[in-house]
Amino acid sequence: ASPHAEGRVLEIRVMGYGSGQFLLIARDITRVRQLEGMRKDFVANVSHELKTPLTVLQGYLEMMQSMAEPGSPNVKAMEQMQQQTNRMRSMVEQLLVLSRIEDSAEINLEVTVNMSHMMEILKEEANALSHGEYELSFYSEPNLHLYGNELELRSACSNLISNAIRYTEPGGKVDISWRKVATGGIFSVTDSGDGIAPQHIGRLTERFYRVDNARTRQRGGTGLGLAITKHALSHHQSELMITSELGKGSTFSFLIPINLIESDINTDKVERL
Ligand code: ADP
Repeated sequence: ASPHAEGRVLEIRVMGYGSGQFLLIARDITRVRQLEGMRKDFVANVSHELKTPLTVLQGYLEMMQSMAEPGSPNVKAMEQMQQQTNRMRSMVEQLLVLSRIEDSAEINLEVTVNMSHMMEILKEEANALSHGEYELSFYSEPNLHLYGNELELRSACSNLISNAIRYTEPGGKVDISWRKVATGGIFSVTDSGDGIAPQHIGRLTERFYRVDNARTRQRGGTGLGLAITKHALSHHQSELMITSELGKGSTFSFLIPINLIESDINTDKVERL
């Protein structure tokens, strides 16, 4: 390698044209990577810096709310302010999670995640979020564990569940499952909610991409959940699969490949030994 190439990042693509012909394209992406790094640092720093003023604002707001005359016009205004500061707080927190998760290119895939335990926690969370207004169904394959990062996986699963509830009218159905298949383990969330038009599906994991802004904003959310989910899944050799029909509902799922699955009842493994 030439000394000029030191510290530079090259992207190399090889395209085959059949009959033994190849095209090799090398692109210097050092500057692109630098800018990307600066953007990430900037977002992480700003999010971090916003946390303190937000906490102070929320503290004073709570104090003012407790002193306000019941029924006065200020009460309504303060409720609005409380809602908006809460929204800002979740955004700041999610931006920090996203920048952390984007930064860690690799994670330790040696640690066993007890999925049965995690599914119990997710079930409790789903029950709390649904306020008894949804028909929830839950299935968890027994003894089907995996290698990975529990926090990241939990945040991926929680995002899918909270979205299913958020984008489904009360009275609707949400099915959550973790099952064994021949190629691995599938986590899946199906709702009977709004559904998504096909042109949006490919863009849902982009930061801040939201289908119908006015409506989605009303329902809370930050527009960052699926971006976080995508990164968490890529750390587990997996990706998000989305099928949806407008007005009927959606299924968000992901497959954890068999090499990351640890199953007490996995006879394949026993045979291989
Ligand atoms: P948000 O915080 O807005 O929910 P997400 O990144 O989690 O952000 O989701 C991005 C967008 O994808 C949402 O704003 C919503 O428009 C759409 N979406 C996500 N999940 C569902 C779902 N289960 N049903 C319908 N739309 C969904």
